[in-house]
Amino acid sequence: MTLLATPHRFAALGAPIVQPATATPLPAPQLLWHQPGLAEGLGLPAPWCAGATGLALLSGELAWPGYPAVASAYAGHQFGRYSPQLGDGRALLLAELHTPQGRQELQLKGAGITPFARGGDGRAVLRSTLREALACEALHALGVPSTRALAVVASPLQVLRDEQAETTAVLCRVAPSFVRFGHFEFLARQGDARHLQRLADWVATQLFGLPDDAALPAPQRHAAWLREVATRSARLVAQWQTLGFCHGVLNTDNCALLGLTLDYGPFGFVERYRPHHIPNASDTDGRYRLEAQPAVMRWNLERLLAACQGLLGDDANSAADSAAGHTTAVLAAYDSAYAQTVMARWAAKLGLATVQPGDDRLVLRWLKLLQQGRADFTASFRALGEQPPAALRERFGAAAPAFDAWAQDWQARLAAQGEPAAVVRERQRLANPRHVLRTHLAQAVIQAAQAGDAAPLQRLMAVLARPFDDQPGADDLAAPPPAGTPVAELSCSA
Ligand code: AMP
Ligand code: MG
Repeated sequence: MTLLATPHRFAALGAPIVQPATATPLPAPQLLWHQPGLAEGLGLPAPWCAGATGLALLSGELAWPGYPAVASAYAGHQFGRYSPQLGDGRALLLAELHTPQGRQELQLKGAGITPFARGGDGRAVLRSTLREALACEALHALGVPSTRALAVVASPLQVLRDEQAETTAVLCRVAPSFVRFGHFEFLARQGDARHLQRLADWVATQLFGLPDDAALPAPQRHAAWLREVATRSARLVAQWQTLGFCHGVLNTDNCALLGLTLDYGPFGFVERYRPHHIPNASDTDGRYRLEAQPAVMRWNLERLLAACQGLLGDDANSAADSAAGHTTAVLAAYDSAYAQTVMARWAAKLGLATVQPGDDRLVLRWLKLLQQGRADFTASFRALGEQPPAALRERFGAAAPAFDAWAQDWQARLAAQGEPAAVVRERQRLANPRHVLRTHLAQAVIQAAQAGDAAPLQRLMAVLARPFDDQPGADDLAAPPPAGTPVAELSCSA
């Protein structure tokens, strides 16, 4: 098979943005899972992935023919504090593939140390690799922009995490680009204006399709892509909030310029609804709690804008064409895209066709009820579109009378819309998934995979690929965790 690949454009940016890196193959690699649909789209037919060459490329044993791998340098604000030197410590960029949907980069995560490993072992444990693969594919199926998971190759090699030996794996992940906010922070803090400009020009023309200097002067060009980053990031967070997804480690180095969900670690979907849900056991202050994400992403965007100040010009004659003017406009784009998207999505979840004055109150009252009743976020939203309110009131315990009052107002609002009930129900079905990646479901398939049984993983992946459908025999993969299920302790960088 001939693979249509080019030397990746990102690698061509050269040092100090990227450095050559080589994979350290895992012993006894075994293809545990791969995503046939994604593989086909990349021009990698399923038999190839499962064959000897596919396995060798997907595990890092074989270099991509003709295209040396690289790792990239980035910095980032971690929990609010600046870390000057992070980078791809355990990720390698392989080839860039041409697909009908555009170019896609292939990365291996966990294939050994790189020049940025900073004393780390360059590995990823099977547990965290499967959580990342599951989440990438679950979010993608929910319509949320995400890096994708192509394959998981497992190995008996063990590494220590929290003083426990665990087996390792390599994840092959795919995205049009893995560029992060932190790449810009790194170059700006180094005072490397030349490479910052180079990266920004590359991003503008290659990722955002903007015309080059002649057609659009530099400050406007950079302001244009930064506005696009703001809009995409705002829409992404609005999707997270309305699905109850909490990223867990929303550092600037984990924020993709393309507005993709990136670097899954201690993430979690909220179950019993709490706005201050914190899936990351290391996040003791709750900096990255569910309700904080919109403000945190905005703060991260401000760090990106600070790094890009030198690119935004300084036209003393025009406030709008100054760096300060562009910065204000980018943040305003974030605020308005977030406000618009989040309300439109809450409204659709309640069956509303448009957003009308007062709908925000209706949403807030409903969320408050979920919180008071400690009701399951995903199941309650889904049930609202499937059952009459009288059948739901029990969920709210002492708040049942408040639920009755709310349900009356909600039904009046729906009636005023004048749509057939079936139309409303279908809108709600398509906005409220039956299946999300609940932590206990991930834990169960991880345990089975660690014991050598990949069948539960395959089954969960298949169900999560159609999250809005009622799938016969899959009720156990929709239900909240049974009472007494231990809370998983999730932390960073496993
Ligand atoms: P994360 O918390 O996974 O976003 O990782 C933060 C930083 O630590 C990134 O620069 C990673 O590349 C690096 N890192 C995490 N785990 C390892 C590891 N096992 N070996 C080398 N670098 C790592
Ligand atoms: Mg990271």
